[in-house]
Amino acid sequence: MLNLNSCKVRWDKNNQIPRMISNIEEKPGHGTPRKIAQDFLHENKDVLKISAPLSDLRYERTVESLAGFTVLFQQYYENMPINGAWVAVHIDKKNRIFMVKNDTVPMERIEEAFPRRIPADTLDEAVETVIADTISEYGELDSDLFREEMIYAKQGHIRAVWKVKFSTKYPRKGSWILFFDRNTGSLLEERDMLWKVHGKGKVFKPNPVVTLNRDDLLDYADTNDVILSKAYKTVVLKDLDQSGFLAGPYVDTVNTENRASSPCFDFKCTRDDDRFEEVMAYYHIDSVQRYIQSLGFRNGTSILAHPVKVNAHGSPEDQSWFDPTTGKKDITYGSGGVDDGEDAEIIIHEYGHALMDAIIPGFGQSGEAEAIGEGFSDYLAGSFFAKYKKSDRKIKLAEWDAKGYSGRGEECLRRLDSRKHYPEEMTGECHEDGEIWSACLWEVRTLLGIKKADTIIIESIFYLNQYSGFKDGALAVIQAEKNLNGGKKTRKLEKLFRERGIV
Ligand SMILES: [Zn+2]
Repeated sequence: MLNLNSCKVRWDKNNQIPRMISNIEEKPGHGTPRKIAQDFLHENKDVLKISAPLSDLRYERTVESLAGFTVLFQQYYENMPINGAWVAVHIDKKNRIFMVKNDTVPMERIEEAFPRRIPADTLDEAVETVIADTISEYGELDSDLFREEMIYAKQGHIRAVWKVKFSTKYPRKGSWILFFDRNTGSLLEERDMLWKVHGKGKVFKPNPVVTLNRDDLLDYADTNDVILSKAYKTVVLKDLDQSGFLAGPYVDTVNTENRASSPCFDFKCTRDDDRFEEVMAYYHIDSVQRYIQSLGFRNGTSILAHPVKVNAHGSPEDQSWFDPTTGKKDITYGSGGVDDGEDAEIIIHEYGHALMDAIIPGFGQSGEAEAIGEGFSDYLAGSFFAKYKKSDRKIKLAEWDAKGYSGRGEECLRRLDSRKHYPEEMTGECHEDGEIWSACLWEVRTLLGIKKADTIIIESIFYLNQYSGFKDGALAVIQAEKNLNGGKKTRKLEKLFRERGIV
């Protein structure tokens, strides 16, 4: 009989079960590893606090390693496997048991959960529909559905479940394991088993003008001028899928011609290499999406938490766009002047349009709505990168991109501190008018603080519609502050928008 006092034991204090017993010094057993393990369990069932009948502990398989064998038993109840309930017996090559792991579920807990017999495979039609609907939300399948009846014993609950496995190819590659409650169809657990890797790349953060704090830089015809060498930052490219391309949970550069690929996920290159802009797009969009999730917009309230398709070199002109056409919803960066993909503020500006469209599909169907779209996108880029900037640069947007304008370079693309007044200084050009909106948002940021302002401004977009103008936008910001911040700054917000002429 095993003496636990002479072993090393990790106890499960809630259930008084020894979960892991090591330093076991048993005499060598006889027979196959399976027989040795079964004899051992037979003799030590009580010591191990295994309350299930041994007939419910079914032999699964034996795995051989360099120094021994692992014999695995799966716990069942009424012919149904219990998820995660295993016993592993580890035996060395001299037939001595040296370690046991016991993850069985106590019988009294199972019987408590199932006072009557578990009904046979009778899945309610309504429940079946709920489950099918949930699965369809994962997108286009890349495999068959594998469904298994199980008992689920996690997080303090024991329930009859369906374990469903499948893989998806679009909108994101995934290898899923889902657990559904058999009675209600509710999703108990979701797991993406796809192995992802982190890659490496070099980027500007957000651009060389900011990092080097120099106004005299020029495009130098897309060459890797030595002046710029100190502007590169080596970064981690998170959660790339296994394809070797720049594709991950929030960005996929699939639309780029001759797209970058690296079997070892090394994407370090400089601006004279066309892959550089692809790395920039991947890194910065991924970073902003993670930041937005950190503000609370995740899971049920996530915004665009799936791969947006990017073309890092989709136009020879000096222009970039987000295409909101149904079925497209992708971003293209142009290569005229300084490549737009070299200035992270342009990258995030376009992503700002994609985010707004994800919240209000078709947003921007009036002159002022368009200006709100431009103003929000400028604000998002400026707010996100402000921490990298010396104070007088914080309100200048896309300074590096502007160095490629008309051959001689300009100060910046747009500003976030415009004093333009509404409505008399509106021009009807959405980027110019957008400066009125972004300036308001920048004042909101100063008033509320960075994270609070970013959160409230994004929340306010949910209160708009496709045609909303400045007044709607202002009221939405005021309302979002009430909802998320208790209205502590209502009067100051009203004053801010009133002074601008908007409310
Ligand atoms: Zn824009």
